[in-house]
Amino acid sequence: IDLATFTHPLVHRMGDQFWFHEVSPDAFPGQSFGLQIDSILYHTQSPFQDILIFHSTSYGNVLVLNGIVQCTERDEFAYQELITHLPIMAHPAPKKVLVIGGGDCGVLRELVKHVDDGTVESITMVEIDDMVIKLLTQFLPNMARFHNHPSVDLRIEDGFKFLKETTAKYDVIITDSSDPEGPAEEFFQESYFQLLQNALAPEGVVIMQSSENIWLNIEYLRGLLVKAKAVFANVDYCQCYMPSYTSGQLGLVIATNDTSKRLSQPLRTFDEQKERALFKYYSADVHRVSFVMPTWAKEVLGRY
Ligand code: SAM
Repeated sequence: IDLATFTHPLVHRMGDQFWFHEVSPDAFPGQSFGLQIDSILYHTQSPFQDILIFHSTSYGNVLVLNGIVQCTERDEFAYQELITHLPIMAHPAPKKVLVIGGGDCGVLRELVKHVDDGTVESITMVEIDDMVIKLLTQFLPNMARFHNHPSVDLRIEDGFKFLKETTAKYDVIITDSSDPEGPAEEFFQESYFQLLQNALAPEGVVIMQSSENIWLNIEYLRGLLVKAKAVFANVDYCQCYMPSYTSGQLGLVIATNDTSKRLSQPLRTFDEQKERALFKYYSADVHRVSFVMPTWAKEVLGRY
């Protein structure tokens, strides 16, 4: 695609350079994360969302859905590892896992490590847009590698609808969705937490990306925790460093019904050598520290 003639509301020419700027007055009022574009790899409007993939000069290939950066080759492992290994390691014996969304397949890549390790037995992934999976196999192949794995049951349908209809119970449910604008809107409501509750096995753990962090909109985040707390007995919040998410962090809401469990403590750990072989971001120490909040954020979020 010729950059000089390419038009997209978030792509601009600055001198002889082209830049993508994540501008969203609702999600990121008054601030914007930018990446210099080297080349546009793909742009389309799928039945569900606007999909843009470009090669950046500093973060490798980048996936953007509805104008919001979803992952970059350089830092995707931080988010993928944390959203996967936190609930898996906070569960005593996670066998059956459900992923809602997850079309970039990074969470699948991380889950397969626990299949190889003999812990996880089956993974169901429910992604609404198969175009995301197809494009990622081509443009971010280090992420989209395991959707055909024998332990993976891939369903192309609406995750909300799937949860309404399923009678199965899962040990871990990971909501790796896009942000509330677009097909993921319903995931940020109390009714969604209720659907998760219905599909959760007794010792089960759920985790979801919160689409916000303490710097962007702490009150929204507190509201999300209130919604989760109305449904689950034990709710907590943690965060990961993500330079390519506006303001450099992403928050995750994690919950269970087991009030004796401290989600910030891994129930199972690997020795240091194995940790280093398996992970680039996650470790038992990172697990614990991800729940530690700055003083003001702890004060605000503590009131949920
Ligand atoms: N890490 C990301 C981020 O920036 O928050 C999210 C990654 S992306 C894999 C999110 C996926 O959720 C997309 O592939 C999108 O198609 C999918 N998705 C959105 N709404 C959905 C729905 N209602 N049911 C299932 N999948 C959905």
